[in-house]
Amino acid sequence: MPYERTDAITIRYTDFSETSRIFTFYTRRFGRVSALAKGVKRKYSKMIGHVDLLSHSEIIFTSGLSRDRLHILTEANAYETFPNIRKQLPRFYAACHAAELVNNMTSLDDPSPELFDQLLDLLRRRDRNVGTAIALLAFEGQLLLLSGFMPQLSNCVSCGKKNRQKTVAFSPRLGGIVCSKCSTGEAELIHDLPADALSLFERLAQKKLTKLSRVKISPSVTHQTRAFLNRYETYILAKKLHTAKHLG
Ligand SMILES: [Zn+2]
Repeated sequence: MPYERTDAITIRYTDFSETSRIFTFYTRRFGRVSALAKGVKRKYSKMIGHVDLLSHSEIIFTSGLSRDRLHILTEANAYETFPNIRKQLPRFYAACHAAELVNNMTSLDDPSPELFDQLLDLLRRRDRNVGTAIALLAFEGQLLLLSGFMPQLSNCVSCGKKNRQKTVAFSPRLGGIVCSKCSTGEAELIHDLPADALSLFERLAQKKLTKLSRVKISPSVTHQTRAFLNRYETYILAKKLHTAKHLG
């Protein structure tokens, strides 16, 4: 039975039995994987402190139950546990939101080293409290882009006309903004979105703004972008994420 070794970020766990847990990791080499950690809840388990939620670790696993694509975790060694993220709830919720999005928007065994690095970068920023609100928005934009869900935010998604209005309507179903002509008859529109907030979000997603700590963003633009993303993510995932309501 081959052993696999990779860098991993713990994005979820659930109890499996009195002593065991199933962990979901986003890994550099394999993308999202799930692994059963037998005996991890025992008092003297070697893995205690090495696979906490959001930790960055090296993990070793075997493909034990391949039919269910559930692997067996045999060893974990934490590199970074991000203690500051756990000390403040807003930081913790933002990091958990990123983890929840990755869990829901990626497929099993479909690696993206770029996404792994972006998630790791976000956790490091949250831990050091550098460019925090904008770092989460940038991460979400890059995740939407990599997973093929990035909406069209500059031009009408139906007719292609460039938007010149200050506020725009957005169609989650069509995946983009719609001009006043094309929005007639379109159900489920999100109205009155500020065009400058959407444009900033688009530039963050496309990595046109890389010095995140220098990007100035007003609390109201952050709030409007956040509200838009919560609605759009709920639409594409067909469910509300637990963490969305805790984000400022
Ligand atoms: Zn149009």
